Amino acid sequence: MSAQLLEGKAIAASIKEALKKKIASFKEKPKLVSIQVGENTSSAVYIRAQKKTAEALGIEYGLKTLGADTKQDTLVTEIKSLNKDNSVSGIIVQLPLPKGIDHRLIIRSISPAKDAEGMHPENLGHVLLGDASVAPCTAQAAFELIESTRENLYGKEAVIVGHSEIVGKPLALLLLNSFVTTTVCHIATGERGVLPEHVKRAEILVVAVGKAGLIKGEWIKPGAIVIDVGINRVGERIVGDVEFEPAKDRASFITPVPGGVGPLTVTMLMRNVVTAFKLS
Ligand code: NAD
Repeated sequence: MSAQLLEGKAIAASIKEALKKKIASFKEKPKLVSIQVGENTSSAVYIRAQKKTAEALGIEYGLKTLGADTKQDTLVTEIKSLNKDNSVSGIIVQLPLPKGIDHRLIIRSISPAKDAEGMHPENLGHVLLGDASVAPCTAQAAFELIESTRENLYGKEAVIVGHSEIVGKPLALLLLNSFVTTTVCHIATGERGVLPEHVKRAEILVVAVGKAGLIKGEWIKPGAIVIDVGINRVGERIVGDVEFEPAKDRASFITPVPGGVGPLTVTMLMRNVVTAFKLS
């Protein structure tokens, strides 16, 4: 058996189509403002992708570039002025931030109503309560991919490997809210040597670690849904955290890397902006 590929691009295309129609029906256009502090090649790639996607949907995209020597207080002042600006629907601060700037404090200074990434503690609290309007983009992307299988999730065994604030933890809450039996593994699970036994019982497996080939193909439960969030450069290639070829022979659905979670993440960002705009 060879798994069906969960291509993020195709799912993103249908969500974007719906967003585009919705935006076209608005009298005013939503606006996303991105703040970049200092130069960073990986955030430059994200900014280009965000701008392209936003503009294709009819969302205005503004970029504020601040010098690498920007002080935390200056950045907070900048964010507070965007919080008050009625023409701005969503704010995203590109990470990583230069040393000396506390990224948690920065995220907290964004108004929860304009929190495009869904990372403000107030919005994360709503994810926990199951009544969130915006949620962290990568966790939402993984969740959308799982839902796209149209499998009945109720009571299923999910194992998430990776407990970061942007992926593992919020995704665990999204799955729990759908009555999925959810286990979250992390570095200590690996160090204790029990990662394979957890992975082997996963009917839904999500891996967000950042270590190529961490999850062996033979650990995949036959018929599992496998969502590989990892992005690793190996020589010239980009690969995930799961050994793709052997896993593909056991899983029922699997995301390719690249082309799985990545293309959906930026779409989820745009969905958050549209939601913020509608609620404003
Ligand atoms: P992170 O570094 O914040 O967290 C890594 C997690 O992996 C931690 O929970 C850690 O405890 C766990 N871990 C580390 N070694 C382990 C081991 N041996 N066994 C079990 N768990 C282990 O990572 P992150 O920011 O969530 O990113 C994870 C990966 O996902 C990275 O490769 C990143 O590039 C990728 N990512 C992709 C997207 C996308 O849109 N496709 C978005 C965000 C992150």
